[in-house]
This record gives sequence, structure tokens and C-alpha cells, in this order.
Amino acid sequence: MSVSEILRLTKETLFSFEVLPPLRGKSLEQIYDTIDRLMPFNPAFIEVTTHRIDYVYKELSPGQYRRVEERLRPGTVPISYAIKQRYGVPVVPHVICSGYSQQETENELIDLAFLGMHDLLVLRGDKSKQDSRFIPKEGGLQYASELCEQINDFNKGNLLYGGQHELTRETPFTYGVAGYPEKHEEAMSKASDLRALKRKVDLGAGYVSTQMFYDNKKYFDFVKRCREMGINVPIIPGLKPLTTLNQRAMLPRTFHIDFPEKLVRLLEKCQTNDDVKEVGVDWMIRQCRELKEHEVPCLHFYSMNAAAQIVKIMSAI
Ligand code: FAD
Repeated sequence: MSVSEILRLTKETLFSFEVLPPLRGKSLEQIYDTIDRLMPFNPAFIEVTTHRIDYVYKELSPGQYRRVEERLRPGTVPISYAIKQRYGVPVVPHVICSGYSQQETENELIDLAFLGMHDLLVLRGDKSKQDSRFIPKEGGLQYASELCEQINDFNKGNLLYGGQHELTRETPFTYGVAGYPEKHEEAMSKASDLRALKRKVDLGAGYVSTQMFYDNKKYFDFVKRCREMGINVPIIPGLKPLTTLNQRAMLPRTFHIDFPEKLVRLLEKCQTNDDVKEVGVDWMIRQCRELKEHEVPCLHFYSMNAAAQIVKIMSAI
């Protein structure tokens, strides 16, 4: 069964989480440690993020720098396969436009099909660190919806520049897409952002995975607006337990989200990362209990550096 189907058919609130590939040069140990801790909660699926190639400056000798192209966190496809083999859980690699030409994406789809990995999360991807706005790679795509179109065309057996393949004849790719309860930072309005989301769902996205939020009202309102627009696929809430003092400013700045006032007042009193962890776990237990009461299809956690907190939250609910 595809992840889209699992989410569509579930009668109970499932659990899932996302892991990041290790920083270039690091081993898989930390990912396996995170998954080992979270496996007892029976994840319905595990997602693996993808990170674009970016320019970095390397110091070759004292004072001498060279600009090189580098993927800071390489390995999404092989890591996804390794996790699937090791744990026997459906794994969803993220597929992004950012930093990829369409030809490179096609190569990746071929690799994924050979590996029998047919569940994807389709995204535009973050912009380059050098740029103030998103610029597609030459021969690449501007919007996630265009990547949905490329995948749909691949599913039909068409290769980009002519010719046919039979890799998806038995099992086509199925995919989810991203949604933003508090609006994507670049969208002109909430309504235009929702129209962009509707387009991705009309193209075939089987579910929507949301940006993190700390105020359930925003998620409930988002789901309501989606339903009014005719977006009827499962919408799974994205949840990130707070773990550091630094996140108080970093998360709103990076992800363009607001903390609710009640949480802000609790965070203002924190003196140490441990204080933040305690507040973060308590807050998220309450968030998750309410989301479960509303019978959300899945609680989806951003697990980076937060496995211990997710264990506490899942144990409590
Ligand atoms: P899109 O759906 O393309 O939307 C981007 C913007 O363009 C939005 O403002 C939208 O309203 C607007 N838009 C869309 N279509 C049109 C149109 N036709 N005309 C005009 N405007 C339009 N980033 C990574 O690099 N790697 C990851 O692994 C990753 N995982 C993520 C997982 C989740 C659950 C989420 C929520 C985000 C993730 N991101 C990841 C971040 C994401 O790539 C960024 O938020 C990115 O800026 C937007 O991606 P998108 O797929 O929502 O883009």
C-alpha cells in the first residue's frame, strides 16, 4: 500500500517522522540511533529530506579560499533505501526542484524505481544560500507543481527527451506535497498560496504535509480553508519539539511562523536549553492530545536533535 493510501484509509491517528541525511562526511549512526529510539512507537512511514547542492568556500591553505559546489547533506536516495531495508518501514524520500535540472531529476526517479521506492514528498526545495529569491537551475523547475507534472509524465512511461520506459508500469510513483498553515513566505496571500496547493493536489498529490506550527487553531483553520477549496486529501500536521534557546528566534525567522503568546511567555522565562526542552515537551503533549481528539490522520514529527523529546511526547499521549 502507498503512504497516500495508508493515510487515506487509517481510522486512527498514525505516527511518522522525518530524518535529515548526516552532514557531509558523517556516518549514519545518528540517524539509526534516532530511528531505534522511535521504532517502538510503530511509525507508519519515515521521511528523508533532500538538500540542494550549494556553493561553499573551502580554505585550501591559510587565507586561500576556493568556491566549490557541494551538497552539505548528501545521500537521500541510498539512505532511504538503507532505512527501508533495515527497519522494513515505508520510507518517503523528498524530491526537490532546487539545484536539480529535469534530467537529473529523471535520473533520480530511475534510481528510485530500480530500488522499489515509489512514495515521494514533492517539493520545490529551499533557495540557494547565495540568493535572495529562488532561482531554478538551468533546465530545472520553478514550482513543485511542475515537478508533480514531471513525475506524472514519468508515470505514463515517457522519458524527458523522447523514448519510453517501463519502470512504473506496475507501481507508479505516488506523492505528497507541502502546505503552510501560516502561508508560505513568498505567497502574495493566503488565498493564492491555497490555489497553488490546490493545483498540486489536482495534479495527483495524495496528501499534504504541513509546515511546523505551535498553535493548533492555525492548523484547524488551514484544514477548514482547504476543505472549502475542495482540497480533500489527508492533511498531516508537522510538529517540531522545541529544544534550544536559540530556536526562540531562529524558528520564526527561518520558517516564517509565529509562536502563540502563551508559549512566548513560557519561553521568555527559560534560562537554559533544558528549560526550553521541558516547556517544548509539555507544549507539544497538549498540542498532540488536541490533534488526536480531532482525529488527525497522523502526527508527523521533525526529529532533528529531538528524538528524546519525541519519545517523552509519544509516551505521554
Ligand atoms: P511550491 O508549491 O512550488 O510553492 C512555492 C511558492 O510559490 C509558494 O509561495 C506558492 O504559493 C507559490 N506558487 C506555487 N505555484 C505558483 C504559481 N504557479 N504561480 C505563482 N506562485 C506560485 N526544502 C528542502 O530543500 N528539502 C526538503 O527536504 C524539504 N522538506 C520539506 C518538508 C515539508 C513538510 C515542508 C513544509 C517544507 C520542506 N522544505 C524542504 C521546504 C520547502 O522546499 C520550501 O518551503 C520551499 O520554499 C517551498 O516548497 P513548496 O514545495 O511548498 O513550493
